[in-house]
Amino acid sequence: MDTNNIFIQPIEADWLSEDNLTLDVLRLDAIHPVVSGNKWFKLKYYLRQATDQQKDTLVTFGGAFSNHIIATAFACNQVGLKSIGIIRGEPSGTPSATLQYAHSLGMHLIFVTREEYKQKEQIISAYNLNHCYVVNEGGYGIKGALGAKEILQLVPENDYTHIIASVGTGTMLAGLIMSARLQQNVIGISSMKGNEMLEQAVKDLLISENNFATFSILHDYHFGGYGKYPPPLIAFMNQAWQQFQLPLDIIYTGKLFFAIVDLVSKKQFKKGSKLLMIHSGGLQGNNSLSKNQLSFS
Ligand SMILES: *Cc1c(COP(=O)(O)O)cnc(C)c1O
Repeated sequence: MDTNNIFIQPIEADWLSEDNLTLDVLRLDAIHPVVSGNKWFKLKYYLRQATDQQKDTLVTFGGAFSNHIIATAFACNQVGLKSIGIIRGEPSGTPSATLQYAHSLGMHLIFVTREEYKQKEQIISAYNLNHCYVVNEGGYGIKGALGAKEILQLVPENDYTHIIASVGTGTMLAGLIMSARLQQNVIGISSMKGNEMLEQAVKDLLISENNFATFSILHDYHFGGYGKYPPPLIAFMNQAWQQFQLPLDIIYTGKLFFAIVDLVSKKQFKKGSKLLMIHSGGLQGNNSLSKNQLSFS
């Protein structure tokens, strides 16, 4: 895992320069081909606490295509912790590429039904996992946000007016809000349909800070809902690749970049604004598409 691989990609386009806007993309996806993006940052302090508490096993939760599951498997493997993934839904005939990779990294997978999955504490006791260090689904929590606070340290000249990032649990966004300059605007693009709990979920993680940058979360760019990727989104992602060599994922960053293009076209940014998009990774999730839908990856 090498944060030195992370770089900033400027986007050159008439639709930006017309309004005297600039857009840079922080390419966290470049950390690692599979374990890309924000998950590495979010896991850092959980792993540290698990080790401090002398736990030998970490357990967490996710779906069959979860970036969090794969990142956890990889990170635990690196630091010498055993890992267990509680996977939502019945095992299918062939496990997803995500789960196969997590398994190859030593993660023990436990499949539970969607009903069972809702009762996290019951699972922990039913499978005798009380001795394990538990990380929430998606890495949601204060330690995750503290890790995500370190993302902006990778930006050499942070003179942006807006920092724009995808939102799942809101953990990364909380970290960005706490590390942004007070005059910066942090905008989260939710990948979920109508998750009205998100604002509060983010606020709950901001407790270590008295003053922080203003933020907003936009809920209109979900393309039908979490995990939905209709043909117009795929077409948009192929176009982003052709025009900018910007690889995007179907769950988060495709919707994020679409939102930015849309907000610019609707003149939502003042002339002269300097935008930073956080490419949070997740490209391995594109493996769940059938072949040839994307012109990259
Ligand atoms: C997990 C993930 C997110 C969401 O991060 P949260 O901290 O849960 O909001 C965004 N982008 C990518 C690529 C992810 O894998």
